[in-house]
Amino acid sequence: MKPSESIDPAPHEPNRVCDVVVVGGGPIGIETAIEMRRNGIDAVVFEAGPLGHTISWWAPQTRWFSSNDRISIAGVPLNTIDQAKASREEYLTYLRSVVDQFRVPVETFSKVDKIEARPDDPRRWQVRVRSKWIEASAVVLAIGGTDHPNRLNVPGEDLPHVDGYLREAHHYHGRRVLIVGGRNSAVEAAIRLHRVGAKVTLSYHREELPETSIKYWLRPEIDGLIRSKAIEALFESRVTAITPERVDLDQILPDGRHHTLHMHFDDVLTLIGYEQDKTLFKQLGIRMEDPGGKPIYDDETMETELPGVYVAGTAVGGTQSSKYQVFLENCHVHAVKITKHLLEYGIGSRNTEAKTQAKPSASPELNRQIEMNPES
Ligand SMILES: Cc1cc2nc3c(=O)[nH]c(=O)nc-3n(C[C@H](O)[C@H](O)[C@H](O)COP(=O)(O)OP(=O)(O)OC[C@H]3O[C@@H](n4cnc5c(N)ncnc54)[C@H](O)[C@@H]3O)c2cc1C
Repeated sequence: MKPSESIDPAPHEPNRVCDVVVVGGGPIGIETAIEMRRNGIDAVVFEAGPLGHTISWWAPQTRWFSSNDRISIAGVPLNTIDQAKASREEYLTYLRSVVDQFRVPVETFSKVDKIEARPDDPRRWQVRVRSKWIEASAVVLAIGGTDHPNRLNVPGEDLPHVDGYLREAHHYHGRRVLIVGGRNSAVEAAIRLHRVGAKVTLSYHREELPETSIKYWLRPEIDGLIRSKAIEALFESRVTAITPERVDLDQILPDGRHHTLHMHFDDVLTLIGYEQDKTLFKQLGIRMEDPGGKPIYDDETMETELPGVYVAGTAVGGTQSSKYQVFLENCHVHAVKITKHLLEYGIGSRNTEAKTQAKPSASPELNRQIEMNPES
């Protein structure tokens, strides 16, 4: 062999082998794994944060706007004590129960940071999690589309009193809060913080709040609060700088002139949407298209242009910047499409252990005891 010829790198020694690695333990990642395991496909879920990470960072007691039957997964009814739309807490409880009930193997706080084809077999995938390698016939990227808050890109936005997430509302009692944004998250935060006794100012870059796309039950309330000046609204304004002492805003007046406002706030919440983490798409060379860098995939099978690499859930929508088109609500079908394609390809159906585990069990606690003491 000539010195210039490269030696094919050896495949990584896998710590674990399974049929499918599902990246992301949100509702759709979990639903996909259950659908696969019901069909005898040994699917394992790796989640970067806690189970249902995206929902876990919503402010306490935030409610879904979708009705419960549309956000329930795997055919398990989602009921709330008062028949209202589920809150963050109710949904996370539900998600834990579903995972326990179907004994879905989920490893939380396990970020997938590398995926590559086996050098000697491009149809097999090697996935790195916490420095260990897992080998699988297929990978499902159910990574969601809201990895981190959008940035204003102004000086001072990393100061400690500036936050891209609404936290526990109680924290803001008696404080002067600037909320930047004019869509659901910002409007909902403005109303909630006003109710807990914060002095709220809303800065939005357009002339008025969007005509559509604000939850119908929030709209009359925010309009009323702005009209009565209980919430101060600075339309056509943009934050230009933040310091510990003040926030500078540029506002366009009705006559078209710009003027600069210098205002003091205790907290600044930049609720201007969220961005997808594209690291894995880029690493794998998955082609993306605008708007939002949506991954390109086959709508029939959810397979990307890489054989054996699928996308599921809101991950397919890329970064959804204005009106959201892809929700949990309209993603349930992804689990079925991918499973069907894998079965056609001959993956799964023979794995009786996965199939048995995916059957709803009488008591998750009993299952745990049986696993710990198989003799009992
Ligand atoms: C305040 C608020 C209210 C909402 N209300 C609704 C609603 O009423 N109805 C609705 O349909 N949608 C709603 N949404 C959107 C909702 O969050 C999504 O529809 C839902 O979470 C999508 O589920 P998913 O499984 O596709 O993605 P996600 O729930 O985002 O799950 C993706 C998961 O992948 C994990 N992940 C990402 N990268 C990696 C990696 N490299 N390794 C391991 N894990 C990784 C993430 O940590 C995350 O847990 C709302 C969003 C917000 C912010």
